[in-house]
Amino acid sequence: MTVGRDPSPSRETSAAEIGRTTSPALLALRRAALLAVVTFGAALFGHLTRPVGFLASFWVANALLIGILVRAPQLATFTGWLAIAAGYLAADFAMGGGFLLTLWLTAANLAGVVAGFVLFQRIDPTDRRLERPQSLLFLLLISAAAAGAAAIVGSGSIIVFFGGSLRHAVELYLTSELASNLVVLPMVLTAPPLRTLREHAGALGRSVRPLLPVAALLVSIAAGSMIGGSGAISAPMPALLWCALSYGVFPTAVLTFATGLWQGTALVTNLPPSAAEFLPAVIAHRLSLALLALGPIMVSSINSARSELVKELNRAANEDSLTGTLSRRAFMLRSEAVLAESARRGASLALLMLDADQFKRINDEHGHAAGDAALVALTRQIGAMLRPQDLFGRMGGEEFAIVLPETEPVDALAVAERLREACANIELMLDNGRLVRITMSIGLVCRPAATVSLQSLLKQADEALYAAKRDGRNRVVQAAPLAA
Ligand code: GH3
Ligand code: MG
Ligand code: MG
Repeated sequence: MTVGRDPSPSRETSAAEIGRTTSPALLALRRAALLAVVTFGAALFGHLTRPVGFLASFWVANALLIGILVRAPQLATFTGWLAIAAGYLAADFAMGGGFLLTLWLTAANLAGVVAGFVLFQRIDPTDRRLERPQSLLFLLLISAAAAGAAAIVGSGSIIVFFGGSLRHAVELYLTSELASNLVVLPMVLTAPPLRTLREHAGALGRSVRPLLPVAALLVSIAAGSMIGGSGAISAPMPALLWCALSYGVFPTAVLTFATGLWQGTALVTNLPPSAAEFLPAVIAHRLSLALLALGPIMVSSINSARSELVKELNRAANEDSLTGTLSRRAFMLRSEAVLAESARRGASLALLMLDADQFKRINDEHGHAAGDAALVALTRQIGAMLRPQDLFGRMGGEEFAIVLPETEPVDALAVAERLREACANIELMLDNGRLVRITMSIGLVCRPAATVSLQSLLKQADEALYAAKRDGRNRVVQAAPLAA
């Protein structure tokens, strides 16, 4: 059938186009270079947050790479992995790391990234995008598994190069990796396209109110740092929860990351200097950081899922699923409101009842799908000819109603005639090449500038519609003007 949605270019097409303009080798090289640069930058950032002679206090590189590879799995080629390894090694050597330690830590980093990437590939794409509350459970499990893989390979390096017990080494590695996975991954996994971000930022700039939760977050971080100790970690929680209720998952993830980054870095300057007290304190701090991050993200995920559901329910209740016109319920509710408003302002108004002629025959001769397509074609045509303030609803089956606010009887009759004619001119081409034409009968009633109930208007329009059917269909019949 010719009636249908406009074909829009698919993702595959654009990918193919890119492939055509750039040679595959060049594309692979560019991707590898990008991965190497990102890895190098993120690793360098980690080294810069490192307390002297120790592992980084905030190692974002592994989580960032897991997120990037999950979002763009086409990057996870052999060359891609080589580029990542090169990025890690280069950053370590640039910071003056010893040869063996650098190799060892790079192997641990790769183990964590590979484990995280492979596990994310095995879960539902919906969960990869954190679109359901239960996705957070997957995030926690995969983050823990990736942290475990990195810890298994890397913990030994802590004992060899810095000393300490095996237990502390494993715990330190595990909690550091877990904290950065849980704080960084939600941000990368839910990052929207740049265009959407710009739109949101523009909307934020127009009013101060949406910024209140962020302001509260800044104040509570400042207050927390004055209190110090474990209070510094939990102080921002109420403000983060407020942010989670006010913004989507991505902004919440960014704010949680920023809070975690600040807390993770500020911590190292406030810790007891003696090694015996230092390690357990770092481990406890990172564990609470990691697990506290889950709260706001979980809340924002539940809230977003709920908002989507409410939107969908509203659509289902107010919109006819086949034609996209108002549902009977929404039409009645909005018509009542328009009627009351126009009576208050002393404006006239018109109501049309439309019914497709001999529609049963269309179904019988061409099938139900052809009948559906005809209804869609008719309502599209009619909808395109109405003003934004007009109400157009499906009353049931092949019967529709239209309210034209602020319309004089002579104009309403002209509109009804134009609609009837436009519908009669539609030629619907079926799959089998046959042409179908449909006509409409229309009953019209005009209300003067006074109160007449919607029910009585509908009844009059219905009677006029039946008169139109009786008189031979494909015509407009106007009910006698209603008295005030
Ligand atoms: P009239 O000119 O007197 O209105 O004749 P009619 O055949 O249009 O009226 P009738 O009430 O006898 O039949 C209405 C038909 O519309 C029967 C029903 O199957 C069809 N119909 C109602 N809703 C839909 C729909 O959503 N899709 C399709 N394909 N057909 C529908
Ligand atoms: Mg009919
Ligand atoms: Mg009917």
